[in-house]
Amino acid sequence: MNMEFKRKLAIPMEVKEMYPLTGNMGRIKEERDAEIQKIFSGRSDKLLLIIGPCSADNEDSVMDYLERLARVQEQVEEKILIVPRVYTNKPRTTGDGYKGLLHQPNPEEKPDMFKGIIATRKLHMRVIRDIGLTSADEMLYSENYKYLDDLLSYVAIGARSVEDQQHRLTASGMDVPAGMKNPTSGDYTVMMNSIHAAQNGHTFIYRGWEAVSQGNPYAHAILRGYTNSKGEHYPNYHYEDIMRLCDAYEARPELKNPSVIIDTNHENSGKDPLQQPRILKEVLENRRNSDRIRNIVKGFMVESYIEDGRQDIHGGCYGKSITDPCLGWDKSERLILEIADLL
Ligand code: PEP
Ligand code: MN
Repeated sequence: MNMEFKRKLAIPMEVKEMYPLTGNMGRIKEERDAEIQKIFSGRSDKLLLIIGPCSADNEDSVMDYLERLARVQEQVEEKILIVPRVYTNKPRTTGDGYKGLLHQPNPEEKPDMFKGIIATRKLHMRVIRDIGLTSADEMLYSENYKYLDDLLSYVAIGARSVEDQQHRLTASGMDVPAGMKNPTSGDYTVMMNSIHAAQNGHTFIYRGWEAVSQGNPYAHAILRGYTNSKGEHYPNYHYEDIMRLCDAYEARPELKNPSVIIDTNHENSGKDPLQQPRILKEVLENRRNSDRIRNIVKGFMVESYIEDGRQDIHGGCYGKSITDPCLGWDKSERLILEIADLL
């Protein structure tokens, strides 16, 4: 092979022994997982809000953001359950560019995968220990999920991974909800097949083991907009798009807990992060007007950070995204409070 096997990395069990859950961390995760499950099974009508930066690029500004988020969570806890987006590994459209904390714990330094694994686990641990929340991350590399399975409360399978068998089978072994995004082409069938695969048990190879999964009844859809074959961008959060998803679920009665999370950024906002409040409120309005939409839309995914917009990787502006543009903190806080009033 034309690559160097530089060093053998610690396996998940070893990393968990180095950085174990302590104190009440396990209990916080259990309680939050139970609450989130109730939302997906329809036993709770709280709205799920997965919100945070496109990428968790800097521990200080991410923790600063999360402290602000935790204070708002307290104010709206009767109506909204917040799961912070702490995204530590980033899919890149061409493979170029910053690939997240996992690759570069310091974006100014060269990639270091061992440091990255540790930095990722430590950051997700801090979310529980210091903030009292549990996070959502994208599973970009299925084999890495075992480093984090005792910490995460929500896992997204990205638009570029949702057709991949190993991602689907790994999601089928998770005991937290797995959100399967529509692929970049927007094809619902790929997403529905992915939900089917993840909801059923499989025997497969995982990290060198013959593994047997039980199926994940909380695997569900995420609509994130799409790009057509002509390269044109289209949203899929409108009334008609969600109704079409209801039809797609109805055509597959074997699927459990029909649910969707609306991603308000990416192709849904045309990457204009300031559109997110409008998009979210439009969907809330449609939820009010249609029981079908109300029952299926369990929540939203919002890209939000301290500053509006984005910057170059070496931009140096504190709390500003170095991947997708985000909604700044003041607008995000206002949005969360407004949602609580509207519910
Ligand atoms: C993201 O959530 O930042 C992301 C990369 O999403 P998608 O897979 O929808 O492009
Ligand atoms: Mn993004």
